[in-house]
Amino acid sequence: MEKKNLAVLGSTGSVGTQTLEVVACFPDRFTVSVLTAGRNAELLIQQALQFRPKLVVLSDEQAYLKVKEALVGTDVQVACGEEALVDAVQLDEIDIVLTAIVGSAGLKPTIAAIKKGKDIALANKETLVVAGELITKLVDEYKVRLLPVDSEHSAIFQCLPGEENNPIEKIILTASGGPFRGKSRADLERVTKAQALKHPNWSMGAKITIDSASLMNKGLEVIEAKWLFDLDVDQIEVVIHPQSIIHSLVQFQDGSLKAQMGLPDMKLPIQYALTYPDRLQNEFPRFNFLNYPNLTFETPDVQTFRNLDLAFQALREGGNRACVLNAANEIVVASFLKDELSFLGMSDIIEETMCQVEQKEKLEFEDYLHYDAESRRVARSLIERRYKL
Ligand code: NAD
Ligand code: MG
Repeated sequence: MEKKNLAVLGSTGSVGTQTLEVVACFPDRFTVSVLTAGRNAELLIQQALQFRPKLVVLSDEQAYLKVKEALVGTDVQVACGEEALVDAVQLDEIDIVLTAIVGSAGLKPTIAAIKKGKDIALANKETLVVAGELITKLVDEYKVRLLPVDSEHSAIFQCLPGEENNPIEKIILTASGGPFRGKSRADLERVTKAQALKHPNWSMGAKITIDSASLMNKGLEVIEAKWLFDLDVDQIEVVIHPQSIIHSLVQFQDGSLKAQMGLPDMKLPIQYALTYPDRLQNEFPRFNFLNYPNLTFETPDVQTFRNLDLAFQALREGGNRACVLNAANEIVVASFLKDELSFLGMSDIIEETMCQVEQKEKLEFEDYLHYDAESRRVARSLIERRYKL
């Protein structure tokens, strides 16, 4: 079996570290050429010493200096900054780029990798939310694979082999409902970031954990699914499934439903994206139905968790709307994590930003950057005005 050479963007994060756990299980299948991180110098140094990539890249200057010093005498090159990240994914020897950085910062390196013919294992859903139309066009043009890492999308992807001639009638994305499932708006008036950061089933980075509590994560995933599987908005349904065992479902035109199931563990979808179409033997814990006698399902409460509706609205309106939604969301989540903004305030600011930023159809690459920056500015000033910061 041929070895695959990886670049792991965001290797020090939740998905990044789990990716390296998977890689370490299959030394005959993978080598790592590039690791990148924001500012976690200590962990990146450890990873570099273990995996001996050709190059590591950091965003933060201080962290870069630390890593550079620690790796003197090794043959690992160390670089810093956004441009270095974009260059790193283009190294000739790389086969797959696994994108596990957070937010629209993933856009430029992902585009650069596609244009160099690299397959993409996509965890960084925000890239597809911001610029799904452009990314999917480039994926076709450069004939690369776009392999989902997000567990719901991996589930759907796993249901599709053998169905190439069978159109999808609809997909059902499952959502855990997060830590505030069943709460009313009144209950949510005063919830704290510590409460929001406690996800019942998954241990993830801070941004996606807040997105899961506010249901924005599912909203982003609806948009991600549209582009990955070429669906209309009306073909995408969301159902709350608190146990996170059924990872999502596809319904075909004869009414038959296929689901992918398993314990909630990101290592499984990460492994499938990296080894597709093969399934490799591993030692991950196995699911037992008898430990889960009740698999339950509910309708999402979009009156309380308005973000899910805002995402559907953005998808229906098209053009730059999802880019605006995503940028505003990145700003409000950062603000909520700094205790500047209340939990419910997040949806208000996103909605107001969507009202204030003009609509635009047919976007070029620069337009995405423009509307991303513009929406961040608008959201930021709305927060400052509302909370008199
Ligand atoms: P995380 O915060 O744990 O890790 C993010 C990683 O990216 C870190 O290595 C960090 O140093 C780096 N990074 C952050 N911002 C950066 C920037 N601007 N430039 C360069 N590097 C940067 O995040 P995570 O939970 O691993 O999530 C990563 C992505 O995967 C997100 O888009 C998330 O939505 C998606 N995702 C995560 C999970 C999960 O279980 N954690 C599941 C599905 C999808
Ligand atoms: Mg998911």
